[in-house]
Amino acid sequence: MKKEFAVIGLGRFGGSIVRELIELDADVMAIDISSERVDEYAHIATQAVAADTTDESVLRSIGIRNFEHVVVAIGENIQASILTTLMLKEIGVKKITVKAQNDSHEKVLRKIGADQVVHPERDMGIRIANNMVSNNILDY
Ligand code: ATP
Repeated sequence: MKKEFAVIGLGRFGGSIVRELIELDADVMAIDISSERVDEYAHIATQAVAADTTDESVLRSIGIRNFEHVVVAIGENIQASILTTLMLKEIGVKKITVKAQNDSHEKVLRKIGADQVVHPERDMGIRIANNMVSNNILDY
């Protein structure tokens, strides 16, 4: 059976996760509050849904509980990112990965139970620097 994931927020980061998961043959529900963004992913993701994920009843109605791993890739709107993460926890989603904007954002996300917090720009910078020092420029 295919693995089933959901990605909330279809900016550059969330969008690239959706595309790669599909490449890797997973089922992906792509979710964004913006219907234009959702339209972009209608032919890429398994399902694409326009929804405000800060609303618990909306999250329940799209069946978010059935996904084994949910990524919250809402960037600038820190409040929406925190509220979405909190709702996912309350609904009982097993694994939640969240993109953080800064250290304070990460602190709150960890307190409310995010399983994995990532800083894509920072993490990629660290990886590239490490690869530069080890001369392994092919592996990033
Ligand atoms: P990137 O750097 O990856 O492009 P970003 O940090 O600029 O992303 P944003 O564009 O701020 O991220 O947010 C990513 C997406 O999250 C946007 O497409 C936005 O519409 C969506 N988003 C914001 N608030 C909500 C919400 N409440 N529910 C669902 N999606 C939302």
